[in-house]
Amino acid sequence: MPEQYDVVVVGSVNADLVVGVDRRPAPGETVLGSDLATHPGGKGANQAVAAARLGGRVGIVGRVGDDGHGALLRGALAEAGVDLAHLAVTPGPSGVALITVGPDGDNSIIVSPGANARLTPDDVAAARDMIAAASVVTFQLEVPMPAIEAAARAAASAGARAVLNLSPTAPVPAEVLAVCDPLVVNEHEAAWLLGGPGAADGADPERMAAALLGSGPRSAVITLGADGVVVADAEGTARIPSPKVEAVDTTGAGDAFTAALCLRLARGDSLRDAARYATRVGAAAVRRPGAQTSYPTPDELPA
Ligand code: ATP
Repeated sequence: MPEQYDVVVVGSVNADLVVGVDRRPAPGETVLGSDLATHPGGKGANQAVAAARLGGRVGIVGRVGDDGHGALLRGALAEAGVDLAHLAVTPGPSGVALITVGPDGDNSIIVSPGANARLTPDDVAAARDMIAAASVVTFQLEVPMPAIEAAARAAASAGARAVLNLSPTAPVPAEVLAVCDPLVVNEHEAAWLLGGPGAADGADPERMAAALLGSGPRSAVITLGADGVVVADAEGTARIPSPKVEAVDTTGAGDAFTAALCLRLARGDSLRDAARYATRVGAAAVRRPGAQTSYPTPDELPA
């Protein structure tokens, strides 16, 4: 185990099972699809792999099943150089995302959490040495809230910077939000947090970011796809543009962005500088298909 980690991820590890379809079946109907493709995924694993590929020292706290998917998922993380000392193997199935891709590239996704649902505060406690050796601890919402609360407390007491990617949306206790520096959300998640799906319509992202800051975190970042990001902290709000690239597949771009942001914060960048670097990583990730397969090394970043 390394003595220090740039980033420790407390989060989900899923197998993405992807089938292309001409159209989705109606209830009771069967349709034929393409060959099955199986890819390593899950927001936690994606972020761990993205940060490691950029040269970060990364550890993950999570759970996979004792099935074939679990072995594949551990292999993908190990290959990227992620420390697996606290990736436990649980009897039963791994987390799985069942993804159908329609003719326009539109995704429909069912997530079966499997082993991710068994991540507990005790797992986080067992990883306390790893968390104490981290500059940044980051978590998303694909694992149970008690584990996230434990991770937020462990990060705070170890003096590590906590970053929450509030995805998928779910209510978050005020004590967790209060340690986030930053809270990272996309526009839809920001609107949800600020009071319902209509909140984004016509809303000014700078105003939304300032409002998010008022909801409790120490700083906030809203990602806006090709339009870049808005950062809000005690210094005010700032818009950072995205590099112009040809987008092939945006799957996992948000995870690449968050991972890069965490890594640069760990290395001492200001939030604005870290966000600027992370937009280059997010842009690089949309130039290639897939999630983990699309993540860049530092020499593959756009200017
Ligand atoms: P996803 O769910 O697809 O992973 P998301 O909805 O969480 O993504 P986005 O705001 O769509 O998050 O994208 C995250 C970041 O990725 C953006 O802030 C930007 O840096 C980069 N990005 C996404 N789409 C593009 C694009 N078309 N061109 C350049 N950069 C992009």
